Amino acid sequence: MPHPEPAGQLFIVSAPSGVGKSTIIGKVMPSCPKLRFSVSSTTRPARPGEIDGKDYHFLSGEEFLQGISSGRFLEWARVHSHFYGTDRRIVEKWLKAGYDVLLDIDVQGTRLVRCAHPEAKTIFVLPPSMDVLEERLRGRATETEEQLAVRIAAAKREILEASWYDYVIVNDDLQEAVEDLRAIVRACRSGRAARAPAVKTFVMSLIDPTLSLQ
Ligand code: ADP
Ligand code: 5GP
Repeated sequence: MPHPEPAGQLFIVSAPSGVGKSTIIGKVMPSCPKLRFSVSSTTRPARPGEIDGKDYHFLSGEEFLQGISSGRFLEWARVHSHFYGTDRRIVEKWLKAGYDVLLDIDVQGTRLVRCAHPEAKTIFVLPPSMDVLEERLRGRATETEEQLAVRIAAAKREILEASWYDYVIVNDDLQEAVEDLRAIVRACRSGRAARAPAVKTFVMSLIDPTLSLQ
Protein backbone atom coordinates (compact mmCIF):
# COMPACT_ATOMS: atom_id res chain seq x y z
CA MET A 1 0.00 0.00 0.00
CA PRO A 2 1.54 3.42 -0.90
CA HIS A 3 2.32 5.65 2.08
CA PRO A 4 0.47 8.98 2.01
CA GLU A 5 2.78 11.98 1.62
CA PRO A 6 3.60 13.62 4.96
CA ALA A 7 1.85 16.98 5.47
CA GLY A 8 3.93 20.02 4.56
CA GLN A 9 6.15 21.41 7.30
CA LEU A 10 6.69 25.14 7.83
CA PHE A 11 10.25 26.38 8.50
CA ILE A 12 11.03 29.91 9.61
CA VAL A 13 14.58 31.23 9.32
CA SER A 14 15.48 34.50 11.06
CA ALA A 15 18.76 36.33 11.41
CA PRO A 16 19.91 39.90 11.63
CA SER A 17 20.56 41.46 8.22
CA GLY A 18 24.02 40.57 6.90
CA VAL A 19 24.53 37.29 8.79
CA GLY A 20 24.30 35.34 5.53
CA LYS A 21 20.78 33.95 5.68
CA SER A 22 19.98 34.54 1.98
CA THR A 23 23.32 32.98 0.98
CA ILE A 24 22.61 29.85 3.07
CA ILE A 25 19.01 29.53 1.86
CA GLY A 26 20.14 30.03 -1.75
CA LYS A 27 22.46 27.01 -1.41
CA VAL A 28 19.97 24.79 0.42
CA MET A 29 16.95 25.31 -1.87
CA PRO A 30 18.27 23.60 -5.05
CA SER A 31 19.07 20.41 -3.11
CA CYS A 32 15.64 20.14 -1.44
CA PRO A 33 13.06 19.58 -4.20
CA LYS A 34 10.17 19.25 -1.73
CA LEU A 35 11.01 22.62 -0.15
CA ARG A 36 9.44 25.84 -1.46
CA PHE A 37 10.73 29.33 -0.64
CA SER A 38 8.10 31.93 0.21
CA VAL A 39 8.97 35.13 -1.67
CA SER A 40 8.04 38.05 0.60
CA SER A 41 6.66 41.39 -0.48
CA THR A 42 8.50 44.55 0.51
CA THR A 43 8.47 48.29 0.03
CA ARG A 44 12.32 48.30 0.19
CA PRO A 45 13.93 49.25 -3.12
CA ALA A 46 15.63 46.34 -4.94
CA ARG A 47 19.39 45.98 -4.43
CA PRO A 48 21.57 45.59 -7.51
CA GLY A 49 21.11 42.02 -8.80
CA GLU A 50 17.83 41.41 -6.97
CA ILE A 51 15.01 40.17 -9.20
CA ASP A 52 11.35 41.09 -8.71
CA GLY A 53 9.35 37.91 -8.02
CA LYS A 54 12.47 35.87 -7.12
CA ASP A 55 14.10 37.74 -4.23
CA TYR A 56 11.05 39.80 -3.26
CA HIS A 57 7.87 41.15 -4.74
CA PHE A 58 8.82 44.83 -4.76
CA LEU A 59 5.67 46.84 -4.00
CA SER A 60 4.91 50.54 -3.65
CA GLY A 61 3.71 51.76 -0.24
CA GLU A 62 0.20 52.02 -1.63
CA GLU A 63 0.22 48.46 -2.98
CA PHE A 64 1.50 47.17 0.36
CA LEU A 65 -1.24 48.97 2.31
CA GLN A 66 -3.80 47.54 -0.09
CA GLY A 67 -2.35 44.10 0.62
CA ILE A 68 -2.76 44.64 4.36
CA SER A 69 -6.40 45.70 4.05
CA SER A 70 -7.30 42.83 1.71
CA GLY A 71 -5.81 40.24 4.11
CA ARG A 72 -3.09 39.24 1.63
CA PHE A 73 -0.46 38.76 4.33
CA LEU A 74 -0.11 35.90 6.79
CA GLU A 75 2.06 38.36 8.74
CA TRP A 76 3.64 41.70 8.01
CA ALA A 77 6.08 43.94 9.86
CA ARG A 78 7.97 47.18 9.59
CA VAL A 79 11.69 46.33 9.51
CA HIS A 80 14.45 48.95 9.14
CA SER A 81 11.80 51.54 8.09
CA HIS A 82 10.38 49.41 5.24
CA PHE A 83 7.38 47.08 5.19
CA TYR A 84 7.78 43.33 4.64
CA GLY A 85 5.03 40.69 4.44
CA THR A 86 4.41 37.01 3.77
CA ASP A 87 1.84 35.99 1.16
CA ARG A 88 -0.80 33.92 2.97
CA ARG A 89 -2.37 32.30 -0.10
CA ILE A 90 0.78 30.77 -1.55
CA VAL A 91 2.09 29.46 1.81
CA GLU A 92 -1.20 27.77 2.64
CA LYS A 93 -1.55 26.35 -0.88
CA TRP A 94 1.91 24.75 -0.76
CA LEU A 95 1.46 23.34 2.76
CA LYS A 96 -1.87 21.80 1.74
CA ALA A 97 -0.22 20.26 -1.33
CA GLY A 98 2.35 18.58 0.97
CA TYR A 99 5.33 20.83 0.21
CA ASP A 100 7.60 22.05 2.99
CA VAL A 101 7.74 25.84 3.01
CA LEU A 102 10.60 28.05 4.15
CA LEU A 103 10.03 31.63 5.31
CA ASP A 104 12.89 34.12 5.67
CA ILE A 105 11.31 36.61 8.07
CA ASP A 106 12.28 38.66 11.10
CA VAL A 107 11.60 38.01 14.78
CA GLN A 108 8.33 40.02 14.87
CA GLY A 109 6.97 38.05 11.89
CA THR A 110 8.05 34.75 13.45
CA ARG A 111 6.00 35.46 16.57
CA LEU A 112 2.91 36.14 14.47
CA VAL A 113 3.30 33.09 12.22
CA ARG A 114 3.74 30.86 15.28
CA CYS A 115 0.29 31.95 16.50
CA ALA A 116 -1.29 30.65 13.27
CA HIS A 117 1.14 27.70 12.86
CA PRO A 118 2.39 26.59 16.30
CA GLU A 119 3.96 23.51 14.68
CA ALA A 120 6.35 25.67 12.60
CA LYS A 121 10.04 24.94 13.19
CA THR A 122 12.01 28.10 13.94
CA ILE A 123 15.69 28.50 13.11
CA PHE A 124 17.89 31.45 14.11
CA VAL A 125 21.19 32.14 12.33
CA LEU A 126 23.90 33.81 14.40
CA PRO A 127 27.07 35.48 13.14
CA PRO A 128 30.35 34.21 14.66
CA SER A 129 30.69 37.67 16.32
CA MET A 130 29.35 41.23 16.06
CA ASP A 131 32.62 42.31 14.37
CA VAL A 132 32.20 39.67 11.66
CA LEU A 133 28.58 40.73 11.16
CA GLU A 134 29.66 44.33 10.61
CA GLU A 135 32.40 43.18 8.20
CA ARG A 136 29.86 41.16 6.17
CA LEU A 137 27.40 44.03 6.02
CA ARG A 138 30.16 46.38 4.85
CA GLY A 139 31.50 43.76 2.43
CA ARG A 140 28.07 43.44 0.81
CA ALA A 141 28.24 47.19 0.13
CA THR A 142 24.48 47.58 -0.27
CA GLU A 143 23.80 50.00 2.62
CA THR A 144 24.77 53.58 3.39
CA GLU A 145 26.60 54.32 6.67
CA GLU A 146 23.31 55.45 8.18
CA GLN A 147 21.50 52.25 7.09
CA LEU A 148 24.41 50.19 8.43
CA ALA A 149 24.08 51.80 11.86
CA VAL A 150 20.32 51.04 11.89
CA ARG A 151 20.93 47.38 10.92
CA ILE A 152 23.66 46.88 13.53
CA ALA A 153 21.50 48.37 16.30
CA ALA A 154 18.60 46.14 15.17
CA ALA A 155 20.92 43.10 15.07
CA LYS A 156 21.71 43.53 18.76
CA ARG A 157 18.00 43.59 19.63
CA GLU A 158 17.22 40.59 17.38
CA ILE A 159 20.04 38.40 18.74
CA LEU A 160 18.53 38.78 22.22
CA GLU A 161 15.56 36.76 20.88
CA ALA A 162 17.61 33.80 19.60
CA SER A 163 17.03 31.83 22.81
CA TRP A 164 13.40 30.92 22.05
CA TYR A 165 14.04 29.53 18.55
CA ASP A 166 13.94 25.73 18.09
CA TYR A 167 17.34 25.60 16.33
CA VAL A 168 20.36 27.90 16.19
CA ILE A 169 22.94 27.82 13.39
CA VAL A 170 26.22 29.73 13.64
CA ASN A 171 27.23 30.93 10.18
CA ASP A 172 31.00 30.82 10.49
CA ASP A 173 32.00 28.26 7.87
CA LEU A 174 29.40 28.68 5.10
CA GLN A 175 29.42 25.03 3.99
CA GLU A 176 28.82 23.84 7.56
CA ALA A 177 25.94 26.28 8.02
CA VAL A 178 24.38 25.05 4.75
CA GLU A 179 24.71 21.43 5.92
CA ASP A 180 23.15 22.34 9.28
CA LEU A 181 20.05 23.86 7.68
CA ARG A 182 19.72 20.91 5.28
CA ALA A 183 20.03 18.48 8.21
CA ILE A 184 17.32 20.29 10.20
CA VAL A 185 14.92 20.15 7.24
CA ARG A 186 15.63 16.45 6.69
CA ALA A 187 15.29 15.51 10.36
CA CYS A 188 12.00 17.38 10.75
CA ARG A 189 10.56 15.42 7.82
CA SER A 190 10.93 12.29 9.95
CA GLY A 191 9.29 13.85 13.01
CA ARG A 192 6.32 12.00 14.53
CA ALA A 193 3.78 14.62 13.42
CA ALA A 194 5.15 14.77 9.86
CA ARG A 195 5.11 10.97 9.53
CA ALA A 196 1.72 10.52 11.21
CA PRO A 197 -0.14 9.71 7.95
CA ALA A 198 2.33 6.91 7.09
CA VAL A 199 2.26 5.50 10.62
CA LYS A 200 -1.54 5.61 10.62
CA THR A 201 -1.69 3.64 7.36
CA PHE A 202 0.48 0.90 8.87
CA VAL A 203 -1.33 0.83 12.18
CA MET A 204 -4.75 0.64 10.54
CA SER A 205 -3.63 -2.21 8.27
CA LEU A 206 -2.00 -4.19 11.12
CA ILE A 207 -4.71 -3.90 13.74
CA ASP A 208 -6.52 -7.18 14.04
CA PRO A 209 -9.85 -6.61 15.78
CA THR A 210 -9.92 -10.28 16.86
CA LEU A 211 -6.72 -9.84 18.93
CA SER A 212 -6.76 -8.25 22.34
CA LEU A 213 -3.83 -7.20 24.52
CA GLN A 214 -4.80 -9.26 27.56
P1 ADP B 1 21.47 38.25 4.85
O1 ADP B 1 20.57 37.58 3.86
O2 ADP B 1 21.48 37.55 6.17
O3 ADP B 1 21.18 39.72 4.98
P2 ADP B 1 23.61 37.80 2.90
O4 ADP B 1 23.29 36.40 2.52
O5 ADP B 1 23.30 38.90 1.93
O6 ADP B 1 22.97 38.15 4.34
O7 ADP B 1 25.17 37.82 3.28
C1 ADP B 1 25.84 39.02 3.67
C2 ADP B 1 27.27 38.99 3.13
O8 ADP B 1 28.02 38.00 3.85
C3 ADP B 1 27.34 38.61 1.65
O9 ADP B 1 28.33 39.40 1.04
C4 ADP B 1 27.73 37.12 1.70
O10 ADP B 1 28.46 36.74 0.54
C5 ADP B 1 28.62 37.05 2.95
N1 ADP B 1 28.61 35.74 3.65
C6 ADP B 1 27.54 34.95 3.93
N2 ADP B 1 27.92 33.85 4.64
C7 ADP B 1 29.25 33.94 4.81
C8 ADP B 1 30.24 33.11 5.47
N3 ADP B 1 29.92 31.97 6.11
N4 ADP B 1 31.53 33.52 5.44
C9 ADP B 1 31.87 34.68 4.83
N5 ADP B 1 31.01 35.52 4.18
C10 ADP B 1 29.71 35.16 4.18
P1 5GP C 1 16.59 42.60 3.83
O1 5GP C 1 16.12 44.01 3.58
O2 5GP C 1 18.02 42.57 4.34
O3 5GP C 1 16.34 41.67 2.68
O4 5GP C 1 15.70 42.01 5.02
C1 5GP C 1 15.61 42.73 6.22
C2 5GP C 1 14.88 41.88 7.25
O5 5GP C 1 13.51 41.69 6.86
C3 5GP C 1 15.45 40.48 7.42
O6 5GP C 1 15.52 40.23 8.83
C4 5GP C 1 14.43 39.57 6.80
O7 5GP C 1 14.37 38.30 7.41
C5 5GP C 1 13.15 40.35 7.09
N1 5GP C 1 12.05 39.95 6.21
C6 5GP C 1 12.10 39.60 4.91
N2 5GP C 1 10.87 39.27 4.47
C7 5GP C 1 10.03 39.40 5.52
C8 5GP C 1 8.62 39.18 5.70
O8 5GP C 1 7.89 38.80 4.81
N3 5GP C 1 8.12 39.42 6.94
C9 5GP C 1 8.89 39.85 7.98
N4 5GP C 1 8.30 40.03 9.16
N5 5GP C 1 10.22 40.06 7.85
C10 5GP C 1 10.78 39.84 6.63
